[in-house]
Amino acid sequence: MRSILILGATGSIGSTCIKAITEKKLDFKINGLVSFADPKTAMLAKDFSCPYLLMNGKKDEDLYAFLDSNRADIVLNAIAGSAGLKASLSVINLKMDLALANKESIVLGGSFLFSEADRNGVKIIPVDSEHSCLYNLIKAFPDTKELIITASGGPFYDRKDTSGVTIKEALNHPTWKMGKKITIDSATLANKGLEVIEAGFLFGFPASAIKVTVHRQSIVHSIVKVRNGAFYAQLTPPDMTLPIISALSDGNLDLVDIVKPLDFTNLDLTFRSWDKNQFPLLAAAYSCLEKKQGWPIAFNMSNEVAVNAFLSERISYNRISEIVLNVLEKNWEADICCLKDIQDVMKASEEYARKEIS
Ligand code: NDP
Ligand code: MG
Repeated sequence: MRSILILGATGSIGSTCIKAITEKKLDFKINGLVSFADPKTAMLAKDFSCPYLLMNGKKDEDLYAFLDSNRADIVLNAIAGSAGLKASLSVINLKMDLALANKESIVLGGSFLFSEADRNGVKIIPVDSEHSCLYNLIKAFPDTKELIITASGGPFYDRKDTSGVTIKEALNHPTWKMGKKITIDSATLANKGLEVIEAGFLFGFPASAIKVTVHRQSIVHSIVKVRNGAFYAQLTPPDMTLPIISALSDGNLDLVDIVKPLDFTNLDLTFRSWDKNQFPLLAAAYSCLEKKQGWPIAFNMSNEVAVNAFLSERISYNRISEIVLNVLEKNWEADICCLKDIQDVMKASEEYARKEIS
């Protein structure tokens, strides 16, 4: 039996995790649940006879103490947005392995997050479907020299004019059902941008060795190119169950039929290019990964502020990318050596983005 803690228990990833454990009777013991304010958390905690914590109105120290008193073999961090960074660092400092869905932790924490993990002797195992796929492919093919990340292209890939886009249209993702923030990011392809940066830090690849291809069906989760020129990929229907459960099990559970089978008698797979002018946030993310320093942080924070403003009807859809690009016009050169350095850039870039909105 493997013990786990679930942070973001009521969200899309948290719920998929709990559903899989219950329905597939997986050999996990849930030691505790954390969410922000959803009262459903208490009911879930009762079902699993475990303690829970609601972070609304709480401090980082409360989370740290909760994690410390309910230690587990591995912690799933499925908190949405930049709030996930402190949670990831707490888990790492408590010397627990981290199954990381919160990609923002990697984009914000960058090399610092991984050096903290090394210092504490813990593993960071990605849950993001593309990175889970890449993690396993790189393990199988250590001579991987290029990563090809697939992108669904979101709801607007075939729509050139996005000026009148409504929240409802932007939340209507063609292949995945996810939380609101990541769904909007999947429409602008900022999500793919965050994932390019995530892959850069996770696997230590330069921006030039990470490609993005638009694959509308979300069945091929990513591809690697190895030294001899061959490509290898992982194919499953779009479902987060496998990436979540394989990260949590980390090779310690015998996972049988976690995914639905694919029907190879009737399957069309397409791969297309993406346009820098149509999706400027993906192009901007590449440049942030090349420059590193404070740039990925500024990208993440300005995008988060802009997406929240769009979701609360304060700005139009097209303003999201304008705001991020304007914030990235500023100089984000900074040595990032500790949490304080990260927080300084987070705060400054958030402020710039807020100014752009008002
Ligand atoms: P959701 O919005 O569906 O869920 C977010 C969860 O985080 C909720 O349980 C929420 O609690 C909790 N939460 C929010 N803020 C805090 C906080 N400050 N402290 C503690 N808990 C908090 O998000 P998703 O599940 O879609 O995404 C979660 C993460 O996983 C994101 O980083 C996303 O990018 C990543 N991811 C998601 C995928 C998906 O398929 N959904 C795929 C790949 C990556 P409450 O309900 O109480 O507000
Ligand atoms: Mg993904």
